[in-house]
Amino acid sequence: MDALTPLTYKTLLSKVTETTGRPMHDPATGDLIGHAPVRSISDVDNAVRRARAAQPGWAARSDDERVQTLLHAADAVEASTEALAELLCREQGKPLNGPNARFEVGACAAWLRATAGTPLPGGTVFEDDEIHAELHYRPVGVVGAIGPWNWPMMITTWQVAPSLRMGNTVVVKPSEYTPLSVLALGEVLNSALPDDVLTVVPGEGDLGAHLTTHPDVDKLMFTGSTGTGKAIARDSASTLKRLTLELGGNDAGIVLPDVDPSKIAEGLFWGAFINTGQTCAALKRLYVHTDVYDQVCAALVEFARQMPMGPGLDEQNVLGPLQNKAQYDIVAGLVDAAIASGAKVLLGGDPANDGGGLFYPTTLVADIDNDNPLVAQEQFGPALPIVRYSDLDEAVAMANGLDVGLGASVWSADPAAARSVAARLEAGTVWINSHGGVHPMIPFGGIKGSGYGLEFGSEGLKSVSVPQVING
Ligand code: NDP
Repeated sequence: MDALTPLTYKTLLSKVTETTGRPMHDPATGDLIGHAPVRSISDVDNAVRRARAAQPGWAARSDDERVQTLLHAADAVEASTEALAELLCREQGKPLNGPNARFEVGACAAWLRATAGTPLPGGTVFEDDEIHAELHYRPVGVVGAIGPWNWPMMITTWQVAPSLRMGNTVVVKPSEYTPLSVLALGEVLNSALPDDVLTVVPGEGDLGAHLTTHPDVDKLMFTGSTGTGKAIARDSASTLKRLTLELGGNDAGIVLPDVDPSKIAEGLFWGAFINTGQTCAALKRLYVHTDVYDQVCAALVEFARQMPMGPGLDEQNVLGPLQNKAQYDIVAGLVDAAIASGAKVLLGGDPANDGGGLFYPTTLVADIDNDNPLVAQEQFGPALPIVRYSDLDEAVAMANGLDVGLGASVWSADPAAARSVAARLEAGTVWINSHGGVHPMIPFGGIKGSGYGLEFGSEGLKSVSVPQVING
């Protein structure tokens, strides 16, 4: 396949589906998209064996050759943007328009290019009359990548691009909810890559655990739930794999009393509702000072009610369905319990249940206690609880009160005040007057139950490498 010939949706779909396998349905309509292949443990073993065999040759190429290959892969992704975005839209549910499917495919190309352009880490670490010591970053070997269903193409790219740049080969196990999107991305990337450097092995049940214990997998990158992250940490101990664990969060935002509510409403909305709330580093608990509480709530309601939700192939929609029924039930259950506890619904909370797809309406819940499960648990959908506070120390304590720490944000007209609050928050990233934006040159990772290991930029390259000191 010529990497730069744009694939049509039909051609791409035919490359990633089989006549039997796991039936994949569009969460917006319930329509059958096609059948995803279901691979076995021996297919994982084959992929790892081929990745192991291909790795020395890939690592032996010059860094410049690997850079050019990643740039070529970025061009290939860009050339097939429309087909990739349509498949992502149909399988994941996110609309084509807005910060959704086309945006995600664009981010894949952008991350490939930025990763190709990142200066390699390492260099001279000590020098005197007798010693010249250099720190080098060598390939780990074979990287296993297990990704989620919310941003399946983008997160796979986050795992694959730095691994390849550093001379590793990669075996990807996609989420069973979005295998076609990842197979399609793999298909396009592989049009630019040598054989066996990247393999996608879709399946369900025990393939992920097999990769985690496989003696020939040297590093595992996982994005998903904290529970599975803990299982991976435990199961990988026997082979002492290096790990990057990007796990769930329950990000807090603190709004200080000096804000102009109408100016921050749009940023708050997209911080919380990007990808219809199915984003690990989205705003999931909002703490608003009592002086501006009613005004912030009103501004959010006004902005939110104008954001259209519906089937993603309709270009007017910017919010879509929940990706799967299990996630829908989590969101619905938490909102119902909040309503039963006496919290006040400002918007949404009333799914139509007309059978037309997994749509849960944009929901804003006010006058809710901090210990309500809608606040304390990661709901991972389009519902935002808004908690009132009057004492900043109390707000910081509530924000820090959970055993997760992926992202957080502070909203204020005073940058110095915002920074001093930011420094007190227990989170891997604290944004000021925005929430959730990531950049390929800015390190990203969680603390506490949100995992460990940094991605992006030269820190990301280090995390898919092993350090070697040459001292002489
Ligand atoms: P999980 O965290 O359960 O991850 C599922 C993936 O992990 C599958 O590919 C599975 O492979 C693999 N896996 C399961 N057990 C193991 C193991 N012991 N070792 C290695 N791999 C394993 O995600 P879910 O999709 O079930 O989502 C559950 C929750 O996670 C959501 O409700 C949400 O809160 C959170 N989430 C967080 C995301 C984030 O970006 N941080 C993204 C998506 C969800 P196999 O099928 O082979 O077992």
